[in-house]
Amino acid sequence: MEMVRAQYLRLVRQNHPDQYQGNPGAQARHEEIMKEVTWAYREIIEGRARAKTVPPPRPPGPRPSRPAPNMKDLQCHAHGRWAVGFCTVCGTPLCSRCDEALTGYCSAHRPGAFWS
Ligand SMILES: [Zn+2]
Ligand SMILES: [Zn+2]
Repeated sequence: MEMVRAQYLRLVRQNHPDQYQGNPGAQARHEEIMKEVTWAYREIIEGRARAKTVPPPRPPGPRPSRPAPNMKDLQCHAHGRWAVGFCTVCGTPLCSRCDEALTGYCSAHRPGAFWS
C-alpha cells in the first residue's frame, strides 16, 4: 500500500502540469497523464478497500443450532415446573407434583382418579 502511494506521489511530482507552464502542449499532455494516474491510483486503493469489506468465507464450525424446543411443551401447565414425564393419554407434561407416583397419567386420565 505504501509503495503504491509513493509511486503515485512520484508520478504526481513528475507530471504535475504546473511544471509545464509556458508550454501548453506539454501541460495538456501531462494533465491527461495525471488524470490516468489518479484514476489508476484510486482504482487500486478503492479496489483494496472493497476487497476488505467482502466478508470472509464462513469458517467450518458448528452448524447453527436448531430452534430450541418450545419450553412450554416441557413444563407442567399447572405448576410451571419441568416435566418429568408426559401423560400417556393426552401428552400433557407432568411435573413431579402433578404425578407424584410417576404413573404416567395426568390428573384427568390417571386410572381411578376421577371416574372409578
Ligand atoms: Zn392426560
Ligand atoms: Zn405440575
